[in-house]
Amino acid sequence: MANAGVQLDEKRLVMLDDVCECEGRLVDDLDVEKGLVSENKPTKCSKCGCKDIQGVEVMGTYEGTLFWECEECDSAILRFEENKTEEYLQLAKGLWTNPSDWGYVPRSEFN
Ligand SMILES: [Zn+2]
Repeated sequence: MANAGVQLDEKRLVMLDDVCECEGRLVDDLDVEKGLVSENKPTKCSKCGCKDIQGVEVMGTYEGTLFWECEECDSAILRFEENKTEEYLQLAKGLWTNPSDWGYVPRSEFN
């Protein structure tokens, strides 16, 4: 059982700095399996084969599971392409660097 973040059914809600150093390319801070994207919850971890996979939502990014994480070895499996995941993570970074601008940028205005 994970001890960080809020437990929501099969999803864990975390803050950006729980998963990233907030420097450079954020998606690179995730321990992701390169080239592997799984829109639906993977049945098992591609690294250790463990079946305890949990969705992870990062506050201020995508509303819902942003990526999957193995409970056993903490390796992450992307739900969106790397570039898309990076865009979402950058949204949360904006919240951190500009706390006065707290709020969501409408997706249509986000480039
Ligand atoms: Zn694993």
